[in-house]
Amino acid sequence: MKSTFVMLKPDALQRNLVDLILLEFKQAGYTIVRKQLKTVDESTILAHYDEVISRVQLPHFRERILETFVNQDVVIAEITKDDDVVNSVRTFIGKTNPKEADPSSIRGKFGEDDMNVAIKEGRLVQNLVHASDSDESAQSELALWFK
Ligand code: ADP
Repeated sequence: MKSTFVMLKPDALQRNLVDLILLEFKQAGYTIVRKQLKTVDESTILAHYDEVISRVQLPHFRERILETFVNQDVVIAEITKDDDVVNSVRTFIGKTNPKEADPSSIRGKFGEDDMNVAIKEGRLVQNLVHASDSDESAQSELALWFK
């Protein structure tokens, strides 16, 4: 069975939503193969968001990523299901902007932020969870974070 990489970001931990979000995954039929609490270091988060840093046009995006993640706690997880798990988890978590995310998705249900406000304030939008966007990134992100 294929698996994907999921990270519960610092805002999920700050809002005490980790157990609730993982329960949502389980109730939707996903299996959590392994999970770990991690304190993020600079080299790991820069490697993780390498492609995003070159794509997203937000000013000082790299610095904002470092401020948001370095020395903060996250929960990383390998998640599997007997389906096209990478794509199904992307749908399950919902759109990047919680304001536009489907209300049944994780970001739609629990997210409180709006990307347009975040952009105006020059910061990352808080959307609780990351999930890999392809089989290749799932494999490289699992190897990077569970090393
Ligand atoms: P996703 O997490 O949905 O795959 P991206 O890979 O495009 O989205 O971006 C990574 C993360 O960076 C997003 O989850 C979000 O927290 C933040 N982000 C991306 N684009 C913006 C933006 N234009 N303004 C603020 N934050 C952003």
